[in-house]
Amino acid sequence: MTDFTMTTDADGVATITWDVKGKSMNVLSLQGWDDLDACVDAALGDDTVKGIIITSGKKDSFAGGMDLNVIAKMKEAAGDNPAKGLMDGLMASHAILRKIERAGMDPKTNKGGKPIAAALPGTALGIGLEIPLACHRIFAADNPKAKIGLPEIMVGIFPGMGGTTRLVRKMGAMAASPLLLEGKMNNPQKAKAAGVVDEVVAAKDLLAKAKEWVLSEPKIVKPWDEKGYKMPGGAPYHPAGFMTFVGASAMVNGKTQGVYPAAKALLSAVYEGALVPFDTALKIEARWFTNVLMNPSSEAMIRSLFINKEALEKGANRPSVDDQKVSQVGIIGAGMMGAGIALVSAMAGIKVVLIDAKQEAADKGKAYTEAHMDKGIARKKATPEKKEAVLGLINATTDYAALKDCDLIVEAVFEDVGVKADVTAQVQAACPDAIFATNTSTLPITELAKAANDAEKFIGIHFFSPVDKMLLVEIIKGKKTGDVAVAKALDFVRQIKKTPIVVNDERFFYANRCIIPYINEGIRMVKEGVSPALIENAAKLVGMPLGPLQLTDETSIDLGVKIAKATKTAMGDAYDDAQDEVLFWMFDEGRLGRKSNSGFYAYDEKGKRQGLWEGLSAKYPEADEQPDLIDVQHRLLFAQTLEAVRALEEGVLEDIREGDVGAILGWGFAPWSGGPFSWLDIIGSPYAAERCDQLTAQYGERFTTPALLREMADKTQTFYGRFGPQASKAA
Ligand code: NAD
Repeated sequence: MTDFTMTTDADGVATITWDVKGKSMNVLSLQGWDDLDACVDAALGDDTVKGIIITSGKKDSFAGGMDLNVIAKMKEAAGDNPAKGLMDGLMASHAILRKIERAGMDPKTNKGGKPIAAALPGTALGIGLEIPLACHRIFAADNPKAKIGLPEIMVGIFPGMGGTTRLVRKMGAMAASPLLLEGKMNNPQKAKAAGVVDEVVAAKDLLAKAKEWVLSEPKIVKPWDEKGYKMPGGAPYHPAGFMTFVGASAMVNGKTQGVYPAAKALLSAVYEGALVPFDTALKIEARWFTNVLMNPSSEAMIRSLFINKEALEKGANRPSVDDQKVSQVGIIGAGMMGAGIALVSAMAGIKVVLIDAKQEAADKGKAYTEAHMDKGIARKKATPEKKEAVLGLINATTDYAALKDCDLIVEAVFEDVGVKADVTAQVQAACPDAIFATNTSTLPITELAKAANDAEKFIGIHFFSPVDKMLLVEIIKGKKTGDVAVAKALDFVRQIKKTPIVVNDERFFYANRCIIPYINEGIRMVKEGVSPALIENAAKLVGMPLGPLQLTDETSIDLGVKIAKATKTAMGDAYDDAQDEVLFWMFDEGRLGRKSNSGFYAYDEKGKRQGLWEGLSAKYPEADEQPDLIDVQHRLLFAQTLEAVRALEEGVLEDIREGDVGAILGWGFAPWSGGPFSWLDIIGSPYAAERCDQLTAQYGERFTTPALLREMADKTQTFYGRFGPQASKAA
């Protein structure tokens, strides 16, 4: 079976079609590389062929990227020298793309050669754009849903198959920056405006236009293969280029805090590549790419953000029951969460019945979708027709009878057992057969299920706020939750295009269980006299998106107080109240966080965050001697990570992949690390256990090494070695 096939027509145009059987979108495998190479050789070697078109057999896409197993196989190929395997593999890939680019031209005169056009029916990402960039002209079908770009940076790598070097030489470093450094993807029209693709044509004319161009005897030599080539916007030593590189370097470090190896390596590849001839630049790109691929951070990011995220989205932990696609969802409570859940459901084409106690509240919940669509229209991301269609799917009402055809209910009323029990009874009278999900963030699912007719059909579907932005959904199984309910929840999450994790029912489930100790650790440091600026910066420098104090301001101090009180009641003597003094004092001062325009930070009248609030250090003076940065960072990271390990030990987590993906998507756990379990694997279990012992001696029992981690340290095990999908069940 071949991934690329070639046909030649009577006019001498060879069409190489990429069509990976059994996949909805093409991905490039090692076999694919060989097939492409063979087709290109055949076309270039056939005298009757005048020109070549490379296209896709898929109707709406060219390719989604590379099969990341290619990288693993390249590493394996060189045995105990994986870096050499990678470098050799990359250079072999460069040779194929360079063959396309040179297309048989005379190396000295640039004469001869055959024009090669890329014809993209739709989405072209990663290697799916790097191949076209090696062609002489890129035609894209005018398919507004298509995405064109190089998103590699988002999973911790960068375009390393010539994409970096070619895009910078085609567009200039400044223009290429957002595409390379942010992984920005564009639709075809925008990709043309940005200069990534050369022509956008009606889908039906795609091949004809490409053919017309190929037969027009066009000039095919790339600017960078001609004498006197100058990089658009200037090379690094040109005054304009110099500014770009100084600015980009500062921007990258500002944005990444220096913790993402790929962003730095990318910049180096661009900078160093810009100083040398094209073929040397490709070699430099390959070296930096190898460097990144050998970095444990990149490996962990690829594993969590690409391989495992996708596996979870495809139902890695879905029970094998029939398709449970939701046709109509009932949402009870049209407040902040209910309104958001209604929006994402209707956007996915699901009919919604949105219920609140009062009609105004239900209407207000629906108005959230209206406002969202209006914003989309203003930004040209939606049309008035789409708005009407989405709003038409939402029935905002107070009438529970309207729920009768719903197959899933999501309850998002006040966080109160009594109110929730009441609502459960009312819902079940109206639609007894639907799966019932609660969006509670703190109440045990097993307890809430007692109000339901059938606990097997009762489940937790925990969304994060704001619902439309947060990618993670935590599905919680109560003691009696059955497989159909789990499958229903997973199929719903898939419909609304979010990433699910499935966990068992224990206090705060998984995400909140880990993030609360992070917040608490930050607040207790304030009381100890650690400088608030040190606390916040230490967190950011280790890759947390928000410091613990800022995060508390965002989620609100009163919520923190509420959780502290409830936890104390539930845990009794076992409750550690070290953070409460500061938290309760802030509450008493009326500094409730962003919502009151005052919290650990000061805010201006418009709500813009200013510096840390000076009153904090006045009340809790900073100690003369401050701890080392690494100590503060380890306290903040271990506070979260040890909870994740305990959640695994206790069976709350059943799959470490969910622990890692959930941590990054749910609360932004240092994405460079690949998640808490990946982080422990990077630092190694023996060192992790040793650090916990030191932290316990210095700061207290909460850092006690969990028995599982101790055992793993003794055996020098890794989490992925022991619990990863490849690990034997017996381990
Ligand atoms: P909210 O106060 O904004 O909304 C609750 C809504 O429920 C209100 O509109 C209220 O009128 C309605 N309601 C109350 N009693 C009702 C009844 N008997 N019948 C119908 N409607 C009723 O609260 P929220 O922030 O949207 O939270 C809702 C649920 O989601 C809570 O269980 C909360 O713990 C959970 N949750 C909240 C967040 C968050 O960040 N706010 C995150 C995850 C989960």
